Amino acid sequence: MVIHDANSDAPYVTCTVDGERHLIRADFVAGCDGFHGVSRQTIPTDVRRECEKIYPFGWLGILSETPPLNHELIYTSSERGFALCSMRNKNLSRYYLQCALPDTPEDWTDAAFWCELKRRIPAEYADRLVTGPSIEKSIAPLRSFVTEPMRWGRLFLCGDAAHIVPPTGAKGLNTASSDVHYLLNGLREYYENNVTDGIDRYSEKALARVWKTERFSWWLSSLLHRHPEQSDFDLKMQQAEIEFLRTNEAAQRAMAENYVGLPY
Ligand SMILES: Cc1cc2nc3c(=O)[nH]c(=O)nc-3n(C[C@H](O)[C@H](O)[C@H](O)COP(=O)(O)OP(=O)(O)OC[C@H]3O[C@@H](n4cnc5c(N)ncnc54)[C@H](O)[C@@H]3O)c2cc1C
Repeated sequence: MVIHDANSDAPYVTCTVDGERHLIRADFVAGCDGFHGVSRQTIPTDVRRECEKIYPFGWLGILSETPPLNHELIYTSSERGFALCSMRNKNLSRYYLQCALPDTPEDWTDAAFWCELKRRIPAEYADRLVTGPSIEKSIAPLRSFVTEPMRWGRLFLCGDAAHIVPPTGAKGLNTASSDVHYLLNGLREYYENNVTDGIDRYSEKALARVWKTERFSWWLSSLLHRHPEQSDFDLKMQQAEIEFLRTNEAAQRAMAENYVGLPY
């Protein structure tokens, strides 16, 4: 797929589907093709500014046909590293372990995964964890990434095409949705009232929320993982912040507002 003349009044897209070549003319192009798509790359490098942070660890995740450990997610920060107990439905669970960047899924047998998970969560939960064979196992590196601006001419970037958050806090899809909300409203104003303010300010509005979400995902990731170069002081700061969060209602409220998703 190629996006042509995005910076003109007559953009068009060409693509090949089942061997047949197509040309689609459009007023606007919404680039919703994920982190590896072509939309972001269509914006010239002298226009694009990219900010990135690569974290020095990854997440090893498994899916298992077992009942969830708890009705709510469990995030743990243990001396052996971060772990997350999540769920899909009443007989499908998702578990994650912080792992070293060079690790591969083949390095981790299911037995090794469950054993390590039990060592990272409180004993009362470890005792009732139901284990079983994994039906999926993968490792995701953690990164924060934002490209600016999110608009170039008549091309609008949405979602992972423009930004990535580390999975801590699960904000990726939520942020993609808020981009789409701003773009939808901008296009609606344009077609219904011939007003261009919404599309002209799309990048500014979307990025204002994106950066707040990036901050939250970075903060939660920094707070809960063990970092390879972490000093005793850094560790004490993490522990003090977790304790502050545990006991301070204002801090809990701020975290909850970010966790459920900031208004848009
Ligand atoms: C393992 C994992 C777990 C996650 N868990 C969560 C979670 O719990 N909560 C959460 O909020 N987020 C989660 N995320 C992040 C979330 O999946 C993404 O932020 C979200 O899917 C972004 O949506 P998107 O539409 O921007 O991009 P994508 O979901 O990547 O969709 C882009 C689409 O464009 C298509 N595409 C790309 N190029 C082309 C092309 N040339 N032609 C045609 N189609 C093309 C792709 O095939 C894809 O279908 C997770 C991500 C991963 C990897």
